Amino acid sequence: MENVVIIGTGCAGLTAAIYTARANLNPLVLTGVMPGGLLTTTSIVENFPGFPEGVDGYELMTRMQSQAEKFGAKIKFGTVESVDLAAKPIRLVVDGDLVDTQTLIIASGAGHKHLGVPGEHELEKKGVTYCATCDGALPVFRNQPLVVVGGGDSACEEANFLTRFGSIVYLVHRRDSLRASKIMADRTLANPKIKPIWDSAVTEVQDVASGKMTGVKLKNLKTGEESFLPSAGLFVAIGHVPNTQLFKGQLALDDAGYFVLGKGMATTVPGVFVAGDCADSVYRQAITAAGMGCAAAIEAERYLAGLNA
Ligand code: NAP
Repeated sequence: MENVVIIGTGCAGLTAAIYTARANLNPLVLTGVMPGGLLTTTSIVENFPGFPEGVDGYELMTRMQSQAEKFGAKIKFGTVESVDLAAKPIRLVVDGDLVDTQTLIIASGAGHKHLGVPGEHELEKKGVTYCATCDGALPVFRNQPLVVVGGGDSACEEANFLTRFGSIVYLVHRRDSLRASKIMADRTLANPKIKPIWDSAVTEVQDVASGKMTGVKLKNLKTGEESFLPSAGLFVAIGHVPNTQLFKGQLALDDAGYFVLGKGMATTVPGVFVAGDCADSVYRQAITAAGMGCAAAIEAERYLAGLNA
């Protein structure tokens, strides 16, 4: 039986792994389908303390994993299929194998939110993508007009990154001001290759019949005017949905699906703690996720000490 199982290897999960490993708890850390979490899809992280020149998101996560492994964390590539939090010990099924544990830290992160418009699903990977860092350099996008949707830091970051490849980057936002931090918004609006299209929504991605993206249909939300914008790529950056579905019915979720966080990263189930983007709809920063992972690890350690006292 494990002392601690950690679900997720983003900032929260790996920080929890570093702390529980240093406490000699020999944690088992399950990667899920996206080892390293969403930060691995970011280019330069400029606001993680200690890196004045910025740090590549993938490199940051790789270094966190090495740090956890150095102290004895066992990183396992695996997806949790089911959980029984009422069982004592807590029971998980991981890729068909049973795993029993005394404590569980859930740091399952969040996935990309979709627009839900016609053509989006059909043309995914054929022009529609949720990650500029992963896909932006593909030949199909080179010297072509590209569209980014969203008005937050992610959309701004993606738009700026894509100016390296596209002929022009249209930033389609449903309002007339950006939600992004001022530094990102100013940088974006000052970039001559980025053209904002305000008060507008993408209503359809074309052309499903040919299996290739040719452009997006837009609607101006103030005037109702509709138009077609030829483009080779649609980069959707409209926020995230927490990865909590697996725990529905066993742990309390809020209306948006985030874990309801108790005092000390606790849940309603003793020995089960949550950390990071799956439990934070407000801050969602790498550093806050890391802080939550640290706190969850300390609480799990205290809980185990209480069990064994
Ligand atoms: P976000 O801040 O929640 O912004 C989402 C954007 O998408 C908003 O502008 C929102 O419009 C728009 N949107 C949401 N649903 C939409 C829909 N159905 N159709 C069209 N537009 C829609 O998400 P984010 O940009 O991914 O950022 C998440 C967190 O990560 C933030 O705290 C951010 O600061 C952080 N982050 C930081 C960095 C960095 O510092 N380098 C980089 C990326 C992300 P409204 O504005 O109208 O709500």
